[in-house]
Amino acid sequence: MLKIVYSADYLKYDFGPGHPFTPDRWEAVVELLEQMDLAADWIKPDPATESDVLAIHERAFVEAIKAASVGRAVPYPLYFGLETGDVPVFPGMHEATCALCGGSQLAGRLVAEGVSKRVLQLGGGLHHAMPGRASGFCVYNDPAFTIEALRARGLRVAYVDIDVHHGDGVQAIYYNDPDVLTLSLHESGRFLFPGTGEINELGNGRAIGTSVNVPLSPGTQDASYLESFEEVVPRVLRHFDPDVLVIQSGADAHYLDPLAHLSLTTHAYETLFRRLIVLSEEITEGRMVVALGGGYAFDSTTRVWALLAHCLADAELPERLPAEWMDRWGFRRESIRPDLHDRRRSVSSEGRDSSVVQANQQTVGSLLEALEELE
Ligand SMILES: [Zn+2]
Repeated sequence: MLKIVYSADYLKYDFGPGHPFTPDRWEAVVELLEQMDLAADWIKPDPATESDVLAIHERAFVEAIKAASVGRAVPYPLYFGLETGDVPVFPGMHEATCALCGGSQLAGRLVAEGVSKRVLQLGGGLHHAMPGRASGFCVYNDPAFTIEALRARGLRVAYVDIDVHHGDGVQAIYYNDPDVLTLSLHESGRFLFPGTGEINELGNGRAIGTSVNVPLSPGTQDASYLESFEEVVPRVLRHFDPDVLVIQSGADAHYLDPLAHLSLTTHAYETLFRRLIVLSEEITEGRMVVALGGGYAFDSTTRVWALLAHCLADAELPERLPAEWMDRWGFRRESIRPDLHDRRRSVSSEGRDSSVVQANQQTVGSLLEALEELE
C-alpha cells in the first residue's frame, strides 16, 4: 500500500492572505484523496531538528529564520531573502518549515530503510531555498532533507524536478557533488523566475555532467514537453545509474497556472507520472520518493496531485471529483468542471506551436551534444 507522509502541521507554512503558496492546496488534496477512498497508509512525521537543518543550511541564515519566527528583528533581512514579496516573515516560520522538512526526511528514510519502495510526501518541494538564503516561497530546502536521508544509507540519488521553475536551490546544494544528479525540466529562465537552469549549467569539477537542465519555451504543450522528456530523462538516468529517484512534482506547468507560461494538460501529467514510475522500476528497482512543489491554480493543482497519488498507488483513476469535495472547495475553483482530467487534450491545435516545438528540439539537441562530449 502506498505510504503517504503528511502532517496537519504542514498547514502552518502559511505566508498569509493573498500569497500564492497557500497551504489549503495540501489540505484540499488530503480531503480529495480521502473522499476518493484512495487506499494508502498515512504516516505522520516528526519535525526536522535544528541539527538536521544545520547539515544543509548556514548557521547565520538559520538564526535569522528563528529570529523572524518569534517576531524579533532580523538584521539585513534582504541578505537572507526575507521580507521580500515572495518570502514575507510570519510567526512560527522556523517550526512550520521544520515540519515540512521532517516529512521529506521521513519519506527518504522509509525508502532508505527498505520499509517501502515508493513514498509520497504530501507537501514540500521547496526547491528554491539556498544554503544561506530563502527564495521563491521557499525557506528551507526540504528536497535536500530527503536526499540526505537516502545518502545516509549509502544510496545514490537522482533528483528529477518537473516544477515549471528551475530547481536552482537543489542544484546549488549539489553542484559540486558527483554523487547526486539533479535534473530539472522547466520554463526557460529567460522568461521566468529564477532566471537560471540553462543547458550549460552542468555541474562543477568532478561533478560535471551531474547537473542537467532542460529549459523549455513559453507555450510548450503536452507533445513537445513529453518529447523533450523522452529525449533526455531516460538516457541521463540510465547513464547515472542511481539507486533511488527523488521527484519534485510541481503542478505549475499546467496551462491554467497563473505564474508561468507552459501549457500542459493533466493528460501530460499522467503520462509523466507513469513514465517516472516505469523508469524507477527499470533503473532503481522501483525506489522513488515523490514530493509536491509549486502549483498556483487551485483547480488544476489539486487535480494533478490527486492524479499523482493514484498513479503512485497503482489505483484506478476516478473520473469525477466527489460532490462533497466540490461543495466544500468549490469557492476556490477557477473552473467548475467536476472531472479529474482536463476535458481538452491539448491547449491549441497542432501546428500552431511549431516554432515552440522547434525551439525545444534545438535546446534538447544542444544539451545532448554537450552531454555526449562529457561521456
Ligand atoms: Zn514552481
